[in-house]
Amino acid sequence: MNGNFTFSIIKPNAVRTGKTGPILAMINEAGFEISAMKMLRMTREQAENFYEVHRERPFYDSLVEFMSSGPVYVMILRHDNAVEEFRKLIGATDPAKAEPGTIRKIYAVSVQMNAIHGSDSDENARRESDFFFSEIERF
Ligand code: UDP
Ligand code: MG
Repeated sequence: MNGNFTFSIIKPNAVRTGKTGPILAMINEAGFEISAMKMLRMTREQAENFYEVHRERPFYDSLVEFMSSGPVYVMILRHDNAVEEFRKLIGATDPAKAEPGTIRKIYAVSVQMNAIHGSDSDENARRESDFFFSEIERF
């Protein structure tokens, strides 16, 4: 059975360049309901922990540097089959491979600065939501 929520981050490049509003409009248009949201800036250590699964990847250090370089919006989003539907809305990791009309196709500036994060499984949606939000911050 597929879960009804996913976790997302509007990444520093998109926040810095004023794309938060347009991205939230696309998320709303696509029928996702915001269940939790806040702005924050991750410390290097928090970004290291969030991306722990990628620790051995060659891009890990620069990813951590980027994700802690400025404020982000973290969100829990509700929708039927949320993880899969949201991955469709954001598009491929590499914007050059993303479908037209996807958030990354429109707002990514590189593979790394690809504007938005979306959980890749229900298990990770739960882990990532719990990483940032307490019970009283979720609706
Ligand atoms: N990333 C990167 N270089 C790469 C691949 C990924 O900097 O060669 C970054 C990019 O910001 C990506 C994140 O690492 O969104 C996590 O990578 P993953 O493979 O999990 O892609 P995603 O699930 O975000 O599509
Ligand atoms: Mg991923």
